[in-house]
Amino acid sequence: MIRTPLICILIFSLSSTLFVQLASADELWTVHWEPFRLVNGSPILFQVTPPVHLKSLEAKWMDHEVYFSFDPHKKKWYGIAGISLDTKEGKYPLQLSGVTSRGMKITFLRNVAVTRGTYESIAVTVGKQFTEPDPEQLKKAMQDKSVKQEVFGRVNPLKEWSGGFEPPVTARISDVFGTQRTFNGQVQSTHQGLDFAVPGGTPVSAVNSGTVLVARPMFFEGNCVMLDHGQGLLTIYMHLSEFKVKEGEHVKRGQLIGLSGGTGRATGPHLHVAVRWEGLYVDPAVLFNLKLP
Ligand SMILES: [Zn+2]
Repeated sequence: MIRTPLICILIFSLSSTLFVQLASADELWTVHWEPFRLVNGSPILFQVTPPVHLKSLEAKWMDHEVYFSFDPHKKKWYGIAGISLDTKEGKYPLQLSGVTSRGMKITFLRNVAVTRGTYESIAVTVGKQFTEPDPEQLKKAMQDKSVKQEVFGRVNPLKEWSGGFEPPVTARISDVFGTQRTFNGQVQSTHQGLDFAVPGGTPVSAVNSGTVLVARPMFFEGNCVMLDHGQGLLTIYMHLSEFKVKEGEHVKRGQLIGLSGGTGRATGPHLHVAVRWEGLYVDPAVLFNLKLP
């Protein structure tokens, strides 16, 4: 009976020493990412199993905050991130920082290799109306810009997506992400989305669950829907002929959000889908291929 308190103290002291060692050892963290080979323009899914149970986990990645959510069944933390098209080949630090149930901060650091993606350059000839907007059109485009700045300025850290991201239509891809286009030998722009060759009136569905941030006509985008999936991730659907959702509405993956069309600055009916993570455009095709929990 007299020895009991001493034994307890010893056990406590041993376990706390062990705990500090656990907390400081990087090799006891399991950190994976998808896709395995990261390139500029890629979205990323980080999967983290920390050495001890955590109350919260966050990360710094290329000057961005990565927001994580815990899956109690798989005992893993999941966070979405991205790499801008402008990112150079190299190694970039992923700094994880977690808080244990006792309020202790534990950290992890690993350098992650980013290689150069392969993107095409093409020359396109279009009518002048596509490259030289008139003053009235420019005014409209400026108004849209302030709406976009307001919408893009908000970051929703809470995860609304769940499970895989599915293409919004089943159709042939008519232009891939990252293509450098030179219009009429002069105007250059990078294609920041994925184009599906669909005729007007094709049902377009939400690629995952989220909240409708925008459902309104815009000059360049035409009838445009933007969905917020949380963790800084947005998807954008352009040139629609009809809206099937309203701003503020919550949608589920696969839900009809609009019909395809050729509104805005488009040379004909098609669906342009863009994926934006914390201000960066990333490749939708890569997002659709990620194996997500
Ligand atoms: Zn496009």
